[in-house]
Amino acid sequence: MEGEAAQMEIRYLKGVGEKRAALLEKLGIHSVEDLLEFYPRDYVDYSKPYPVASAPFDTKCVVRAQVYEKHAPVRVKGGRLMARVMAGDETAGLVLTYFNTRYAPQKLEAGRSYLFFGKVAGSFSQREMVNPTVVSPAEASATPFVPVYPQTEGLNSRNIQKYVRAAFEAVPHIQDPLPAWMVEKYRLCSKAQAVRSMHFPRAMAEVHAARRRLIYEELLVLQLGLLLLRGREAVRTGAQMHEVGFAPFWAALPFAPTGAQRRAVQEIAGDMAGQSPMNRLLQGDVGSGKTLVAAAAVYMAAQNGYQSVLMAPTEILASQHAATLADMLEPLGISVALLTAGVKGAARQSVLDAIRTGAAQLVVGTHAVLGEGVEFARLGLAVTDEQHRFGVRQRAALADKADNPHLLVMSATPIPRTLGLLLFGDLDISVLDELPPGRTPVKTYAITGRKRADMYGFLARQLSAGRQAYIVCPLIEEGESDMQAAAAYIDEVARPLLPGRRIGLLHGRMKGPEKMAVMQSFKAHELDVLVSTTVIEVGVDVPNANCIVIENAERYGLSALHQLRGRVGRGRGDAFCILISDHVTDSVKKRLSFLCHTTDGFEIAKFDLETRGPGDFFGSRQHGLPSLRVANLAADTRALYAAQSEAQALLERDPALQSEENAPLRAAAQRLFAEKTSLN
Ligand code: ADP
Ligand code: MG
Repeated sequence: MEGEAAQMEIRYLKGVGEKRAALLEKLGIHSVEDLLEFYPRDYVDYSKPYPVASAPFDTKCVVRAQVYEKHAPVRVKGGRLMARVMAGDETAGLVLTYFNTRYAPQKLEAGRSYLFFGKVAGSFSQREMVNPTVVSPAEASATPFVPVYPQTEGLNSRNIQKYVRAAFEAVPHIQDPLPAWMVEKYRLCSKAQAVRSMHFPRAMAEVHAARRRLIYEELLVLQLGLLLLRGREAVRTGAQMHEVGFAPFWAALPFAPTGAQRRAVQEIAGDMAGQSPMNRLLQGDVGSGKTLVAAAAVYMAAQNGYQSVLMAPTEILASQHAATLADMLEPLGISVALLTAGVKGAARQSVLDAIRTGAAQLVVGTHAVLGEGVEFARLGLAVTDEQHRFGVRQRAALADKADNPHLLVMSATPIPRTLGLLLFGDLDISVLDELPPGRTPVKTYAITGRKRADMYGFLARQLSAGRQAYIVCPLIEEGESDMQAAAAYIDEVARPLLPGRRIGLLHGRMKGPEKMAVMQSFKAHELDVLVSTTVIEVGVDVPNANCIVIENAERYGLSALHQLRGRVGRGRGDAFCILISDHVTDSVKKRLSFLCHTTDGFEIAKFDLETRGPGDFFGSRQHGLPSLRVANLAADTRALYAAQSEAQALLERDPALQSEENAPLRAAAQRLFAEKTSLN
């Protein structure tokens, strides 16, 4: 939205002030525009009230009733103030009970009718509503659909509604960022109309029309922002390579590659032999064997005289990758070096020297390998494990180390096609859609805490059979450290239920070497059970571990649970994943049961996206996608495609959106990506 009034800070809006502004900011509302675009999450329909006798029990609804008699407030147990109001209609009586408010019952006049919104409880002989919201028939016909806004402590929906009215007064003319021809082409309502309909609809059809318009605009602006940000100039790589034969590489492996691995390697080899830098996402479910594909790319780079770097999100993973890759590559004469914060002193110096002289052909580490003081002789390929932690900032750091090197991003978080295109545009994608042979799907069960002891009995039998288990312990409560939480879990649950077993602990406060030591002893089977907070590293490889127990399973996204589950089922025999949750609402049940019946990471990611939205889907906002107000990337695919092609067409005609007609769209795109993301 253009214009000074819309960009005014929220604290200057009439009636708001500093204190309320702070609360509004908690809801992400910083400017008057933010408030106008803070849409209701639902509406209460006062247009069709129930007669008292037909109102459903225990669901929120609107009831019309006449006030008969008001009783004086009394103090009840606990010191609460209680006021009763007798009401009803020709069908039945209704008792209204108000706690801790003098004001609400005072407003009611005996003999008059009102609309009450709340839950009807009690019985057929005595219906009751506690603290209902009241609206007069006149108010209800003026505003038949009352918006329900997301609220925060100290700020209810009515307060917000009042500020929204003030915002409309402060911004009498809401400009339309969409060019007129586009509004016409897609038969959209105007921006001003849409915003008004969202806040003050006279019929639900108005809300639908408004949403359609706003979804389209939001997706268009998102597309434009991404395309503008990405820049489209063609660059040449400084590391153009020639094709190599992979036969020696395949021959040195202890197993035959899967068809999917071969295909991905061919695609990568084709890219690296081209003139422009590779920008490829290697997407494959947990356990699909991405490491091997990365090793093949490193092999090709080395044959061409280039160094490679592989970045992992954590030190444990980095050292594990270094070990695995050294096993694969050193027999082929390729030297592998590990550089993490844990490598210190003289050892560090010699690694840095090896990188500078080119003696180290593959450097494995955390993102610190892109830090200062690390100079590469001839870097040609950068591989990162887990795409969502590799942002634009890392890309810039990489550009400092080499001349447009090839980039391979590996991810186990599957991205549905639409979202992949949206996020990465011209990023190429290779998919490992085939698991190495001999894997059995992990048997997954969801249970409540009442079955915990039984489940531990099962675990004990697995341990007796010589297997090992991971336990992801409950998430921390406020004020507790994750170390305390994990330690308490071991003392109170794990040890008593698994007497005599060797139990190790891994938590977020531990330093790299400490963690590594625990992981090593788990790997060496000096521990039977590894209890950890969520820090257990994505991708750790202990084939003998065949059970994973996840407490508080409802607190994770399905993709995250799927990744945790991927830690088992890497060896022989059956593997088990047990999800424990006491928070069994219908939606939690549905989600967990979906996971129990599905092993396909793509399906899981799609379901996650549909039920929780892209924010959770990625686990963090680091991928740089701003949060959306109305559009749903999984559901609104048709609008997404339309917006995508319009965005491309617009930029072809006006690459920087400089024309007068397009300037508002450019401004909107810039604002969308301004402070809300880490993209710039
Ligand atoms: P991810 O894709 O999750 O990173 P990894 O690269 O860690 O998977 O591979 C998982 C396991 O599968 C490793 O133990 C690896 O040695 C093994 N593996 C990979 N490719 C194959 C294959 N083609 N045949 C048999 N085992 C394989
Ligand atoms: Mg991996």
